[in-house]
Amino acid sequence: MLKGQMMNRPLMIADLIRHAAQNHGSRAIASRLPENHQIFSYTWAQCHDRAQQLANLLTGPFKTRPGDRVATIAWNTHRHLELYYGVSGMGGVIHTVNPRLAPDQIAWMLNHSRAKHVFFDVTFTPIIEAIAKSCKYVKKWVVLSDEAHKPEAKTKIEVYETLIANQSHEYDWPDFDENAASGLCYTSGTTGDPKGALYSHRSTVLHAMACCATDVMGVGADGVLMPVVPMFHVNAWGIPYAAAIAGAKLVLPGARMDGAGLHEMIEQEQVTYVAGVPTVWLGLLQYLRESEKRIDSIKRVLIGGAALPEALLRAFEAEFGVEMQQGWGMTEMSPLGTIGTLLPKHADISYDEQVKIKIKQGRLVYGVDMRSVDDDGQVLPRDGQSAGHIQVRGPWIIDSYYRGVGEDSFSDDGWFKTGDVGHIDPDGYMTITDRSKDVIKSGGEWISSIELENVAIGHPDVAIAGAIGLPHPKWQERPLLVIQAKPNTSPSRDSIHAFLAERLPKWWLPDGIEFVEQMPLGATGKILKSKLREMFKDYTFAVEA
Ligand code: AMP
Repeated sequence: MLKGQMMNRPLMIADLIRHAAQNHGSRAIASRLPENHQIFSYTWAQCHDRAQQLANLLTGPFKTRPGDRVATIAWNTHRHLELYYGVSGMGGVIHTVNPRLAPDQIAWMLNHSRAKHVFFDVTFTPIIEAIAKSCKYVKKWVVLSDEAHKPEAKTKIEVYETLIANQSHEYDWPDFDENAASGLCYTSGTTGDPKGALYSHRSTVLHAMACCATDVMGVGADGVLMPVVPMFHVNAWGIPYAAAIAGAKLVLPGARMDGAGLHEMIEQEQVTYVAGVPTVWLGLLQYLRESEKRIDSIKRVLIGGAALPEALLRAFEAEFGVEMQQGWGMTEMSPLGTIGTLLPKHADISYDEQVKIKIKQGRLVYGVDMRSVDDDGQVLPRDGQSAGHIQVRGPWIIDSYYRGVGEDSFSDDGWFKTGDVGHIDPDGYMTITDRSKDVIKSGGEWISSIELENVAIGHPDVAIAGAIGLPHPKWQERPLLVIQAKPNTSPSRDSIHAFLAERLPKWWLPDGIEFVEQMPLGATGKILKSKLREMFKDYTFAVEA
């Protein structure tokens, strides 16, 4: 082989912020402070400055060594951003923890990752008080505030602003192997213990570069990006890194994810691009309609983490003139896999036809290789209808779980089994039809629980719908549909059944419809199917087909 003669410079996370500070130093970062909900503003240059102070704190008095895990339990703020860069930049691993998990689970994670220090927002002090004693590896608990907002606590807590104020503003970011670990994020763990995805500098930088592309997030220097997706959920989908590459303005909404709070930040900071899960947009939509307010600065909205409901897409596009974009991915994929943008050939098709494409999970991004296989591992055609188990590979896809669990998630020939079921079309658009473990197998055919749920929430009185497969003597499994009705409504079984019958094949119709006051939801707002199965484990269908 004739070797190329180009420099083999490592891809380093610290180089992203150094680039932003040097070339886009005056571009702003706005951050809502969790301690008082005020909006604070500074620049990429100041962020870099403070990330260097943090790196000095970590390597000096905090005795953090390369590879040590430094955990955060924090909202999207400028201080969290400094941790993203300061921790990884000095060679540490930033372990972002989801505060919505139960305290026991958080303690379990901090012990599993052997986190050395924990940085947390004031609002999460009760969690720290509940877990501090059982976190045996943690040396320092640091609250992300100033002295004035230091909480009263039994745990020995130090104050971020005081700690970094004493540190030098000069820090020489080291170069090291680009494959070194940079970040750690655990899956939500709706079944079994959570599993850790350990990102590297290389995977993170490549992923961030991919995010910037026009057909992906289209991040440029003129962008004003607001990740509403939390920084504890798969690196806020890479936006904090992509923004540094492009020199975009970042807007970090802190603890206020409600419609009014988001609208205020969008207006004040003139946000152009926002990203988050569908529930957040449902909240914003309701607020905008009630208050008759506008979001005219916004050009594009990225929805991911769960399917984009067609009604939400149409509402935002028609009423507010923003372009809706759907993305699909997961913790194990950094997270980006597919993202929805139309192709030139779609310019002339009707809006209704375009909507059909936009509610697919998105088009494959360069860097992610994908296939769909049947139960025997045979690769299915990319015909847009043969649904199978989705498998992926690529430079920002997990290779093995942190501390070696979940090895059956990889195929013998080196692909990661996503656990999603779907099909791919000849243009690379992927459609998710289910989670592998949620698909309802009726008489050898697959019924998509997701589609059943999506149709059911179209019923005017249904707030949330969850479909599960229950054992059936003849068909192996049949669907049970569980409904949480909208407040002050009580839809009948018959009306729901009739609504579904008009829209779905007969053999997909649920054999049972039940109602719950409150749908069991996990820490990331998704329906906890495991809990639903547990609740209905003794259920029998009234009439056997
Ligand atoms: P997480 O690792 O918590 O981000 O969850 C990843 C899972 O969320 C995926 O495997 C999918 O099952 C689901 N998911 C993510 N994005 C979408 C989407 N656009 N449509 C449907 N499901 C999605």
